[in-house]
Amino acid sequence: MKFITVHQLLHHVFFLLLATAAVRCQVNPEMCRYPLGMTGGQIQDEDISASSQWSESTAARFGRLDLDNGDGDGAWCPDIMSEPDGLKEYLQVDLRSLHFITLVGTQGRHADGMGNEFAQRYRIKYSRDGTNWVGWHDRKGRQVIEGNRNAYDVVLKDLEPPIIARFVRFMPVTDHSMIVCMRVELYGCEWLDGLMSYSIPDGHQMIYRGLDVYFNDSVYDGASAERLTKGLGQLTDGTWGLDDFLHSHMYGMWPGYDFVGWSNRSFPKGYVEMIFEFDHVRNFTSMKVHCNNMFSRGVRMFRQAGCYFRSGSDWEAEPVTFRPSVDRVSQSARFVTVPLGDRTASAIKCRFHFSDMWMLFSEIAFQSGSAVYNNSLTPRKHGHPTNTLPADDPTHKVDDSNTRILIGCLVAIIAILLTIIVIILWRQVWQKMLEKASRRMLDDELTARLAVQTQAFSSQHSSLTSEGGSTSNSTYERIFPLCADYQEPSRLIRKLPEFAQSTDHLDSGSSSKALPATVSDGAPHYAEADIISLQEASDSGTNSTTAVSMNLFAGTESSMREFPRHKLTFKEKLGEGQFGEVHLCEAEGMQDFLDEDLAVDENSDSPLLVAVKTLREDANKNARNDFLKEIRIMSRLRDPNIVRLLAVCVDTDPLCMITEYMENGDLNQFLCSLRRKQFQEDNKTEQEEKEGKSMVSKLIGMAVQIASGMKYLSSLNFVHRDLATRNCLVGKNFTIKIADFGMSRNLYRGDYYRIQGRAVLPIRWMSWESILLGKFTMASDVWAFGVTLWEILTLCKEQPYSQLSDEQVIENTGEFFRDQGKQVYLPKPPYCPDSVYNDLMLSCWRRNAKQRPSFQEIHAHLMESLA
Ligand code: AMP
Repeated sequence: MKFITVHQLLHHVFFLLLATAAVRCQVNPEMCRYPLGMTGGQIQDEDISASSQWSESTAARFGRLDLDNGDGDGAWCPDIMSEPDGLKEYLQVDLRSLHFITLVGTQGRHADGMGNEFAQRYRIKYSRDGTNWVGWHDRKGRQVIEGNRNAYDVVLKDLEPPIIARFVRFMPVTDHSMIVCMRVELYGCEWLDGLMSYSIPDGHQMIYRGLDVYFNDSVYDGASAERLTKGLGQLTDGTWGLDDFLHSHMYGMWPGYDFVGWSNRSFPKGYVEMIFEFDHVRNFTSMKVHCNNMFSRGVRMFRQAGCYFRSGSDWEAEPVTFRPSVDRVSQSARFVTVPLGDRTASAIKCRFHFSDMWMLFSEIAFQSGSAVYNNSLTPRKHGHPTNTLPADDPTHKVDDSNTRILIGCLVAIIAILLTIIVIILWRQVWQKMLEKASRRMLDDELTARLAVQTQAFSSQHSSLTSEGGSTSNSTYERIFPLCADYQEPSRLIRKLPEFAQSTDHLDSGSSSKALPATVSDGAPHYAEADIISLQEASDSGTNSTTAVSMNLFAGTESSMREFPRHKLTFKEKLGEGQFGEVHLCEAEGMQDFLDEDLAVDENSDSPLLVAVKTLREDANKNARNDFLKEIRIMSRLRDPNIVRLLAVCVDTDPLCMITEYMENGDLNQFLCSLRRKQFQEDNKTEQEEKEGKSMVSKLIGMAVQIASGMKYLSSLNFVHRDLATRNCLVGKNFTIKIADFGMSRNLYRGDYYRIQGRAVLPIRWMSWESILLGKFTMASDVWAFGVTLWEILTLCKEQPYSQLSDEQVIENTGEFFRDQGKQVYLPKPPYCPDSVYNDLMLSCWRRNAKQRPSFQEIHAHLMESLA
């Protein structure tokens, strides 16, 4: 048995009622506002498509507006980098039949606090046949819709005018190629008329007592030449004009706005001809025309309507003719019902004869019978429709007999609608309260429970140094034994009681038990292993920064030049990375690929030495996409302290990126070798002491270069997320360049970044807010810079916080959060000048991210200390 939710049940009941009501009257936009099935799942996955997707887990099918998290990675996110102007990306919904759409809702990606991408602005395109697409614009011609301000809230936008379409595309407007993600819902009801288009002569302009009155069809969405053709517009927008045509329902519109009208003088034959095309052959019972009848101003409803029918290629000779009785009393605008005698047709041509100087229509609707009604929801009943103002209509009596039923029906619908609104509002309010409460709880709990822990932690911490060599009985399971730099914070954080539903059984003491130093000399060095990075818990860190961080893609070329693979000659293996191996190669003719600013000191004809990073042949699709994304990121970075991507080989496998060769490898290894050279002997001579001091200025010189590279990245609002000595490369003459944009590339969680389904992050370089809140910002890069500076000035003698286990690092993070003076800072490196430690390094680790220095300030400070 299939179970359905209350929400779905209401959907069905409501839709049934709406459809029944629609038998009797044309669409009423105020009622026709029901979710069309993105949220409730009535729209199938295969009917949701997109121009592109950032990754499998942000595919189109995840673009369903949802009060919870959303599936996958929480939203549809286009691969905006494949389309640098970002304007052609879209999420498409196929509603399978024509719908009258009155409202759209959008929401961003929050992924339960781990994401912060949303579309601030977007446009809508729609199509009735899947081939001809129309850009929606409001009644004043504005196409761009103001979207979301944050990743959580649903923003609803009334479509004025509404859309009649089967296909709808949401197109985020991304000024600077910002990362955007969307979840959407469409609201409306099925368009039962089946009218695909109408063709009319466009309306005329009246001058009434010196006032310009425009009766044009201003929202017509088809072609406009001599006649308006192949579109729908004001006559089907569900808005009926007022009795006084000079006034409008819509605020700020021009006189005559609600009506499409024609002057008798322009039609020598005395009638206006309109052609209506339908989706398929139908059995027409009637047509309702909303007419103005302000005869004191020369406007009257039509004198006669003659309608011809066509099922195949030719119009049938026999028309249906109808003459409404003339109303010389009431000037009210009204619906006039034209009986169509159950004629069968897929197109109707009606001639409306003038009875005065002007004829003004604001709405036309058709009722067709069930015999050929091909509606998937509810077959329409055979019967006469109802006019709302039928004083002079011959069908009035029939209508009257139905009025009570109609009113009853409408009351029921309104009651259900109100109930639904109350339920939705209640759910939203409840949701918000829950979110707020949970955030507050997180804060309170962090404060309160970390307080409980402090005691245990501090007492244990005092024993840390003495217990340094003992064996651990911790339940913590290292998941990447060769690479102690990257840990799985979600597992570790779970060990903190405030995150630890699953660890309730553990007493807080055991969770903070002291561990031995994780790295000792002689153990495989922490920087030797592959680096596998992930932003499992960190995508909220994108905050505004992820979005903003992608600004750097604006206005630059998106493609890298393809280098002929056969001109690369392998020399040696330099290292192994996340994706594959890095080789030193000679590249023949590479000079032609170099930008002017890249100086080549060798004879320009000799092959250039380059580093070639190759993607493993067996890499999966995600790895491949991410390799390409890293290429895109790197191709746009141009700074003397950022390693430069020179060319790529992506035409065939294996994919390669060719970067400048940095002769001295990564900074971590380089500093280790310096240390070995520098401090081999225990007894230093005076000379060596001096050399030590000059070494410090060399080291600070290196830090200056890293700060300079980071200054450049921060000018682009680009968050690196994994700044550390292992990710910097050393060239000639102590030149340092920042490399490895793996972490900044990994904007979304994906299986690739998990090791056996788990996530790893460089916790010892991460700010407290990155670890606990998943927030990555420029300020968290500053924190990591502080740790990198510490690594440099200690010549990478040991891993940061080497005396703390990974669990204790997380606990210490809790201390940084609480800021009660119990947090443990990295100690001052022996040769580090006081001012560098006290004024700079420590300031990088300030709890308040806003109080941390900017890279500009860091750069200036380090330059000063060099002087
Ligand atoms: P990666 O995958 O970028 O972390 O690179 C792995 C290792 O290869 C690094 O730790 C370096 O030792 C070496 N390597 C990477 N790129 C270069 C380069 N451009 N020049 C010299 N060595 C490099």
